[in-house]
Formats: sequence, structure tokens, C-alpha cells
Amino acid sequence: MQFPTTRMRRLRKNAKIRDIVRETKLQKEDLIYPIYFKEELKDMEKEEISSLPGEFRYSLDAGVEFAKQLEEKGLKSIIVFGIPKEETKDEIATPDYSATGIVQKAIRKLKKETNLVVISDVCLCQYTSHGHCGMIVENEDTDDGIEILNDESLPIIAKVALSHAQAGADIVAPSDMMDGRVNAIRETLDENGFYNVMIMSYSAKYASAFYEPFRVAACSSPHAGDRKSYQMDPANAVEAIRECELDVIEGCDFLMVKPALPYLDVVRMVRDEFMLPLVAYNVSGEYAMLMAAIEKGFLTERAILESLLSIKRAGADLIITNFAPYILLNELI
Ligand SMILES: [Zn+2]
Repeated sequence: MQFPTTRMRRLRKNAKIRDIVRETKLQKEDLIYPIYFKEELKDMEKEEISSLPGEFRYSLDAGVEFAKQLEEKGLKSIIVFGIPKEETKDEIATPDYSATGIVQKAIRKLKKETNLVVISDVCLCQYTSHGHCGMIVENEDTDDGIEILNDESLPIIAKVALSHAQAGADIVAPSDMMDGRVNAIRETLDENGFYNVMIMSYSAKYASAFYEPFRVAACSSPHAGDRKSYQMDPANAVEAIRECELDVIEGCDFLMVKPALPYLDVVRMVRDEFMLPLVAYNVSGEYAMLMAAIEKGFLTERAILESLLSIKRAGADLIITNFAPYILLNELI
């Protein structure tokens, strides 16, 4: 049938009709809030992150209080990042797996005082003196004279994940992009009785320019070199399927694509290929870009919901986003 028998506009006639035929919905349960706990901050201190307007680094107490506020507004899950004291960082990320580290403390307190699903980011870069996601050695055959060691980094990454599980994390989320890390973490968790702790793997994590504001937030820029030898090349989509496939084989419970908006094609490809819950990371640069335009009056906050909806429409089940507080506290959904 064609016009005039068929009229597409009938289904757009008014809000009631549009509401019942809407294919994709953004719900509060879809949002995962990335929160930054800074060891140096005391009591109820928090400090604004210049590159992420409206976002803060929190002390232990202030962060958990804020999480409670968000929970009251409908937040269901949170992903925890830690910023340790600069002087505690070393070559092998020792403070990363300390039972009294800032992340371990934050996990314990969140589990005790909220009902949120607590996810922990597992990586070494915020804890190593060199700022890379794995152990390093000098190697002249690399782009910048530094080799990021794969196999040697795995036991340390697994140790960090175990310390988060011991603190009570529901889900550990390795973001380092070392080969074999899901397997290493799964084995270590299972050996220690944590067979119900889930792994949310940063499966297809790209070496993206959109992470810059986060690196300011988490003080995690590498001091030399870049991350192109372990994170994916932004030009590659098929390779993302191989990355996800390996994570599935190694026993991950959630897949992830990071960033989200510049990689919606990858989100769709992964959705079509795998049946695991799929997370998209709406990264700091995506947030900063929109917030800057909204602050200048070039865009309105409708652009926030539209961009998050596009991530769901592409096939993501869950979205890690700095917009979670803005959306929940302003009751946009
Ligand atoms: Zn890292």
C-alpha cells in the first residue's frame, strides 16, 4: 500500500500515539554512573573536575552520600574509580590491590550503605608511576621505546580484581585491554570462591581521543608513550568482534564497547553477534562536548537524551555515563 492509503504520519499524530509506538526507551535502570573517589580528600570534601563541568572527585564519605542521593532518584548501578595519593604509586601498582585502598574502601561502604549494584573498574594506570595499564620495559622496537608487557601484567590485574571482590564488588570490570585478562581474573576469582562475581569486560576499547577529560579527572595519563599498542585502532570494526569473541570464550558476563557515540556501528555489530548483556561507555569526551555546547546555548538538554537514546537504539542494554546525575536529579526521565 502506498499514499494516500498509507500515511506514516498517523502514527505520529499526538504524544499518546507516539508514546505507545516508541521502539526504544531510555530508562533509569539503563544508567551506570562512573564515580571518582580521591584518597586525599577528607570528610565531605569534593573537588570540581575542570574538564567535566558539573562533575566532581569525591572523598569516601562525600561520594557515598552522593551515591545515596542518586539511588533515591532511581540509580541502580555505579562503577567505581579510585585516585590514590600520588606518592603511593609505583612501577607495579601496589596500592591498586591493597585491602585498605581507596577503591576497596569505597566498595565496602557502598555495599554497606546502599543497595546499588557495585561495579569496580580494574586497571593499573591510575596506580602505576608510569601511568600505563600494564607493566613496562624498555624496548627499542616499539613506537616510543616502551613495551607494555602482557603476560607479566595478568597476575597483577587478577590480584586487583580479587581485592575488589573481597571488598564486596558485584562486578569487576577490567579496562586494561591485555590479552587473556578475563581468563586470568575468572580463574583467580573462582579459586578464591568468588564464582558469583561477574566480569564486565571492556571488550572493544578504542585508543580514543574522547578519553581526554577523564584522564584529567582521574589523573591517569601515561607519562611517556600512548596506549595504541593495547587499545584498539579507531579504524577497526571487524576486529571488535574478535575481541568480544575471545572475552566470551574466556568467561566474561558483560561485553562493552568504549567509546559509544563515535562507535555506534560497533555497538550494533556486537549486539547482532552476541547474546550477552552489552554495555556502551558514553565517555568523558562525549559528555564534555555536549555540556560545553549546552553551556554556550548552542544546544539544549534534549540533545543529552537523544544521544543516549541513540546508544540504546544501536543495541546497548546499559550505558555508563557522566550524565546519570544530570538526568536523574533533574528528573529528565
Ligand atoms: Zn588503564
